[in-house]
Amino acid sequence: MTTPEPTPTLSFGGKPRIYPMRLYGDPILRRKAKPLQPSDTLHVPGYEPQTVRQVADTMLETMFEERGVGLAAPQIGLPVRMFVAVEYEDDEEEKEGQEKPLRSRVLREYVMLNPVIKVLDKKKDKSYQEGCLSIPGIYEEGVPRARRVSVSYTDLDGQARTLDAEDYLARVFQHETDHLDGKLFLDHLPAEITDEHRRDLLKIQQASKNFLHHLTTWEKQRQHTRENL
Ligand SMILES: [Zn+2]
Repeated sequence: MTTPEPTPTLSFGGKPRIYPMRLYGDPILRRKAKPLQPSDTLHVPGYEPQTVRQVADTMLETMFEERGVGLAAPQIGLPVRMFVAVEYEDDEEEKEGQEKPLRSRVLREYVMLNPVIKVLDKKKDKSYQEGCLSIPGIYEEGVPRARRVSVSYTDLDGQARTLDAEDYLARVFQHETDHLDGKLFLDHLPAEITDEHRRDLLKIQQASKNFLHHLTTWEKQRQHTRENL
């Protein structure tokens, strides 16, 4: 099980290759995100403003680096209704030590703006293990998710689209859309489960505090530099 180390030296400013992950305890993960347009300019805290497409590309990069299957904008500090997700060739657990680049197994990448989920099959499915890049090292089975859903969303070109998904992919879309409403997968499980992970969650919360402290300090310094130019 991985537990996050205290935040290493962070380099803010400019255009990042990947974004630092917002962690459990960060208030942004509990906010309801706002709708966005593909033509918007987005400002990820700590970095230069970027287009929606640039942010989406960097979110995909971040997701692959962190070995995730989905990443929602609030998880990088942006309170907007957008997520990225990926479907791999197979669902098999990676073998220990096997470092085949994830990107070589990508079947399809998704970037969804303003997604709305319609449940097609109410039957709840609990058969997959779920985790979250904002809650590193914690995985649980038994999160009830609709087995089949239809997602209506806007793509990066501004086209309205609809996509049906089932099983694991349907779960990913539900998990990511939850993030846009300030909901985390642990919220779907009995409180005892959260209690069981209390020690690890406290460590993650501390890492989150450290990160926010670094970010605030950096922003103050930048503000100060600007005022003195
Ligand atoms: Zn998540």
